[in-house]
Amino acid sequence: MRYLSCANSYSRTVSGLRAYCGVTAGTASETVRRLVRRGLLERRPSDTDRRRIRLDLTSKARAMLRRDPADGLASVLSTFAQPQLTVLASVLEEAANVLAKQQGKTVFGTCRNCRYFQAAGAQVPWEQRPACALMRVALHRTELGALCMRFESR
Ligand code: SF4
Repeated sequence: MRYLSCANSYSRTVSGLRAYCGVTAGTASETVRRLVRRGLLERRPSDTDRRRIRLDLTSKARAMLRRDPADGLASVLSTFAQPQLTVLASVLEEAANVLAKQQGKTVFGTCRNCRYFQAAGAQVPWEQRPACALMRVALHRTELGALCMRFESR
């Protein structure tokens, strides 16, 4: 559920969950089925491709995540200065990428460090929203910091 709460809408899928957790497709599908049965997940058609199914956390799941023990760490980190957090995030992302590549796993990352990221107005001056050159879609600002399974480092 932590992964699904941090992943962008293109990566909140069974295959995204499978790749992130390093489990088989069968295990990921069964996990999703159980979470849906428990009222923690909803399956919805993707906004950009109706054939793809996006997984969204329910309000019940979000309430559970608000009691997540990992929040203690997040709370401590929130007291750090932004430059320190930026360096820490960058080091951890790079380390995770190297480890994923060494193990032949999918590399996850966020838009601002991705080779497909186009800042607002970068290609088309009147385009006011950032965009993804890979999927050819405008990106919502809320998704720029979310994990993406199609990420490729610059
Ligand atoms: S720019 Fe990169 S990280 Fe962002 S949605 Fe596109 S592929 Fe994913």
